[in-house]
Amino acid sequence: MSDSAQRYFEQAAERLGLTASEKKLLLTPHREVRVQVSFRMDDGQTATFVGYRIQHDRARGPMKGGLRFHPEVNSQEVLELASLMTWKTAVVDLPYGGAKGGIAVDPKSLSAGELERMTRKFVDEIHDLIGPDSDIPAPDMGTNAQVMSWIQNQYEKYHGFSPGCVTGKPVELHGIEGREEATGRGVAIILGCTLAQLGRKMGGTTVAIQGFGNVGSYAARILHEMGARIVAVSDVAGGITHPQGLDIPGVQAHQSATGKIAGFAGSRAISNAELLALDCDVLIPAALGGVLTQENAGQVRAGIVVEAANGPTNPGADAIFNERKILVVPDILANAGGVTVSYFEWVQNRQHFKWELADVRDKLEKKLSRAFRDVWEISQEKSVSLRAAAYMLGVGRVRQATKLAGLG
Ligand code: NAD
Repeated sequence: MSDSAQRYFEQAAERLGLTASEKKLLLTPHREVRVQVSFRMDDGQTATFVGYRIQHDRARGPMKGGLRFHPEVNSQEVLELASLMTWKTAVVDLPYGGAKGGIAVDPKSLSAGELERMTRKFVDEIHDLIGPDSDIPAPDMGTNAQVMSWIQNQYEKYHGFSPGCVTGKPVELHGIEGREEATGRGVAIILGCTLAQLGRKMGGTTVAIQGFGNVGSYAARILHEMGARIVAVSDVAGGITHPQGLDIPGVQAHQSATGKIAGFAGSRAISNAELLALDCDVLIPAALGGVLTQENAGQVRAGIVVEAANGPTNPGADAIFNERKILVVPDILANAGGVTVSYFEWVQNRQHFKWELADVRDKLEKKLSRAFRDVWEISQEKSVSLRAAAYMLGVGRVRQATKLAGLG
């Protein structure tokens, strides 16, 4: 496991008084799979990539976690992300364990047909290890509802009708209303809880967001609707800023028309590094992991960091933020909206009963507000950071389930 995830786990384990054997049991992944994914390219050549699925822990239920298509995917990163899912599902109290998967590939370099053939081949290799009662994939970086549909279809060739084998599907094919926006909406809900707890208002709060994909763009849109001023957003090519606040629906329209956010009328171009150090109330990293480091943590000017991405803050940066009294809302709480609505989708699929959007949003708000309250209370009682409190809650719940099952 990577340094960050392991360090945060170790700190929680110490505070909870876990024994060495309990720690080993909780850290050792249940199963790690690495497969060859080869398929025919449009030009007739065979392409070969490496695919991963790592199932971290199943003490609390079937394992759940996204599937990432990105050139930097590797077993170390997938294991870290799988363990984050174990603690995250426990923090929100979903009846799941944690898993993660991915293929080390740049999906933008493939045609739609190539992407479909690659996805189906990956399912051929892992179909007997996943399923509605064992391990349920979902979208992450580089994957979307279309990829989830191919996964369902390919899985069903082996196992028959099983819409609950994957979540994040299109609404027209067993998906749930509100799944696509769920992680971004969850980020907005959690920021709302944080501000309310601090006696502050959303109206006029200035926010900078790194990443304008699924999570970043929905977070920006929903926070904009809630009255926040989104002063900067960025994508892989760089960012744009406006001190008075960007017109987010306008930025989205510009992105749809041109494929990028750069050049949005009236905005000023900034780099991703400048965005992280921008003068604003709230910084939301919503792209890659490991972007906040010992080197740049001292330059962050926001008073609150909400981790929409998985693992954006390394332990060195985390220590600097704690010292500087910058409030960090950790990933395993802040971005749990996605897995929460994935859970609702799975329940919908199992009940064969379609949920209304208003119901989804209402239940998401209740679930996340409850998790925020639980984490906040622990942080106050034990005088620890929100990250330490969230890990104590998540690791504590997994340890308890493991014990009750007679394992630990
Ligand atoms: P996405 O692929 O839809 O979007 C990623 C965004 O990040 C894009 O705007 C891309 O241009 C930008 N980006 C990529 N490389 C970058 C770089 N080097 N610098 C700056 N920006 C860069 O992915 P997503 O689904 O929005 O996921 C974003 C993050 O949120 C990831 O860390 C993911 O693990 C996490 N997350 C996603 C979900 C979900 O439901 N999709 C749930 C929980 C957590």
